[in-house]
Amino acid sequence: MATWHVPTEVHGDGRFVLSRKEFVPAYMKAFEAGRLKEKVEEALSHLGPSCRTCPRLCKGVDRRSDQSGVCRVGRYARVSSAFPHLGEEDVLRGWRGSGTIFFSECNLRCLFCQNFEISQMGGGEVVDPKRLARLMLRLQETGCHNINFVTPEHVVPQIVEALPHAIEMGLRLPLVYNTSSYDSLESLRVMEGLVDIYMPDFKLWDRERSRRFLLAPDYPEVARSALAEMHRQVGVLRVEEEGVALRGVVVRHLVMPGMLDDTRAILGWLSSLSPDTYVNLMDQYRPAWKARTELRFAEINRRVSREEMATASRMAREAGLWHQDTRLAGGLPIPPPAGVAG
Ligand code: SF4
Repeated sequence: MATWHVPTEVHGDGRFVLSRKEFVPAYMKAFEAGRLKEKVEEALSHLGPSCRTCPRLCKGVDRRSDQSGVCRVGRYARVSSAFPHLGEEDVLRGWRGSGTIFFSECNLRCLFCQNFEISQMGGGEVVDPKRLARLMLRLQETGCHNINFVTPEHVVPQIVEALPHAIEMGLRLPLVYNTSSYDSLESLRVMEGLVDIYMPDFKLWDRERSRRFLLAPDYPEVARSALAEMHRQVGVLRVEEEGVALRGVVVRHLVMPGMLDDTRAILGWLSSLSPDTYVNLMDQYRPAWKARTELRFAEINRRVSREEMATASRMAREAGLWHQDTRLAGGLPIPPPAGVAG
């Protein structure tokens, strides 16, 4: 059977490799040092009397009493699905998948959302802390390489509240915080020392476009502060010997039709954060939700062209960003490395 050779773009000639054997997830260190209890209390205090879990700062919304604001989620998180995801970045999916937990709803309103059924249309199972912990354990038992919280911005307190239960049940996988980057610094500081891998999607640079397409004019400033904070906490991406992520930041950028000026600005800024920033330039934009049905958004009712993607890749190279997602297996399952059980 063919094996996956970890590419230089991932391990950086060994500079970005950590020992899997010696790796201890951040939350285990917090737990052993007795810091987890105060983290839970602090996180829950963000739910009310006015929720300040995310930058929307919904005034008068007390989620402790199950009220909800822009995100439409009350006291407990709702989960749309939880499964081993084999379509994530190679460094996350490895050969056994990334243990994704998709939270329902979102604090952004991207009118082109590629997952709008999950983020905007309601639904999902209400999960209390123990149920959420059990979902994590089930993914660990399936063999996933990590637990990947998708769209966690509005449910940070609920995730933190579930962690002591998950630890008690035996969770030992690294946590991935997979976010739109519309995160509050307060929430990220609660997550400090709990999350090992941050995966922010940096969408737009321009305020007017952010107002129009995300319904969040302050998105660019918020995203820059959030990314800088994530980078401060965990640094550039490091992988284990077999190329699976253990710690650091993986940045996604979905290239949008006709918006290469945003792409250029974002890539330049990421390079100033560190030229070693690990980046996945994504080409899978397709018109969805209102971008597909409403005439006023006609300019984004098309796919990104090959030329635009080629220009975006050139921009990344010109910005000096070399540490990039490689998709060596062309999206097919990665075979386990030689000598490693599948
Ligand atoms: S998490 Fe929800 S309720 Fe809280 S501030 Fe954000 S959008 Fe508002």
